[in-house]
Amino acid sequence: MTAPRIGVLALQGDVREHLRLLESLGARGVLVRREAELAGLDGLILPGGESTTIIKLAAAFDLLEPLRAAVKEGLPVYGSCAGMILLADRIADGIEGQQTIGGLDVLVRRNAFGRQVDSFESDLEAPDLAEPDRPLRAVFIRAPWVEEVGREVTVLARAGERVVAVRQGPLMATSFHPELTRDDRVHRYFLDLARNH
Ligand code: GLN
Repeated sequence: MTAPRIGVLALQGDVREHLRLLESLGARGVLVRREAELAGLDGLILPGGESTTIIKLAAAFDLLEPLRAAVKEGLPVYGSCAGMILLADRIADGIEGQQTIGGLDVLVRRNAFGRQVDSFESDLEAPDLAEPDRPLRAVFIRAPWVEEVGREVTVLARAGERVVAVRQGPLMATSFHPELTRDDRVHRYFLDLARNH
């Protein structure tokens, strides 16, 4: 089987870490900075970083509408942290007029944990992503959480009561940063999703 081609939106944020993980799993990582680079992808990752900056750059690089079109056409997309904000249909605590790519029927609150602590690590309950005896160790950095989920959305993980990972068809998002740990189970899950779509 040929290696899946997975784009990483490379406007700002922790792009390299995702590429490294993808390549360690046998996928082909492709940097995406312009519309033509979306062609022929099997999936796309929206990395963590700063959602307000990434969305402004996406608009400036004429990528916003092509990204929205790719989501509508069913491209598998995984957003981590800022990427979760970018994929959300609705956001709270965004900056004035903050746009998103959208596609995930959720309300995501920006910097939600940040009002309590800036960053932290936690073991998550995530039956679809991790074995019960080997929980997912997750790194949260000024992380958002999911405050409301639409009917088609599956919750993949919670930190305490808070929803921190979701999936809706070919779209998935995590509040945390698996690319900053040695745990590759979230990326494996996304690669399976991309292969099966
Ligand atoms: N707080 C950031 C934002 O609003 C996200 C933080 C992150 O990606 N680590 O975009």
